[in-house]
Amino acid sequence: MSKKLNIYLAGPRGFCAGVDRAIEMVKGALKKYGEPVYVRHEIVHNKFVVENLKSEGAIFIEELDEIKDKSRPVIFSAHGVPKSVPETALALNLIYFDATCPLVSKIHKEVEHFDKKNLPVILIGHRNHPEVIGTMGQTKNPIYLVEKVEDVKKLHLNINEEIAYVTQTTLSVDDTKDIIQEIKNHFKNVIEPKKNDICYATTNRQEAVKKIASNCDYFLVIGASNSSNSLRLVEVAKNYGSKKAILVEDVSSLNLNIFENSQNIGITASASSPEVLVEELINKLKNNFELKINEAHYQKEDVYFKIPQKLKN
Ligand code: SF4
Repeated sequence: MSKKLNIYLAGPRGFCAGVDRAIEMVKGALKKYGEPVYVRHEIVHNKFVVENLKSEGAIFIEELDEIKDKSRPVIFSAHGVPKSVPETALALNLIYFDATCPLVSKIHKEVEHFDKKNLPVILIGHRNHPEVIGTMGQTKNPIYLVEKVEDVKKLHLNINEEIAYVTQTTLSVDDTKDIIQEIKNHFKNVIEPKKNDICYATTNRQEAVKKIASNCDYFLVIGASNSSNSLRLVEVAKNYGSKKAILVEDVSSLNLNIFENSQNIGITASASSPEVLVEELINKLKNNFELKINEAHYQKEDVYFKIPQKLKN
């Protein structure tokens, strides 16, 4: 008889509204303009999604000067781009569409607003992440990047000066709270964002993992190693009591021997990972173990972002 595993399936998990919209935009452009359609940077950080779109006629590039046929449309990824990118696209006469998630655009508007008032802006985020590069490219004045609590005191800013802060959308809710507290302790005049910048999808996926992590010996997070929200989910699972937690980038190569001493397995998928990968994982486990599946639903989501009218077919 095969070994029994209790599966704790986190909910919500997988695609968020921003990812859905970005993918829909690439598909809409392919339908409207035919192949190829260029996409600047991985539209969302997930190899499965990128490979699928490639097979439908998308060409992925990192910079606009890689576009060989300038008559073809280009789409900017969901992470957002510095202002210089649409400016270059205009100068090159490109047909372009911006798939920046509206929740990232909201942060772009915030920093622009502070910059116009010449207020120094602190951005809490991860250096070199495309979203951070995009946000830092919205202002004339430099933005001050803070990655961890210790960075706050090292900033070359007067503690009496009025400052504003914003955050990347896909951070750890808990770590960011500590950094924000440090900013408020250190600076006397802090202007906060009107609404939390960590997005609803990041928050809900982390909360859903927190609810079940302590039941688990092993937590599997389907996601990509360059995806911030995926990596945060692994950390959250460990911090909230799962004995082990790993990122599963490729379900087919997951070694099932890792469950030798485990019986309770948590599963989630990052905001850029499709449900079909969760199904693939469950099927692989079903073929080798006897499963009892417990699905937890922390929060219902009904967020939807429309694609631009021009890409509707
Ligand atoms: S994770 Fe959040 S900010 Fe990023 S695309 Fe999804 S909804 Fe938008």
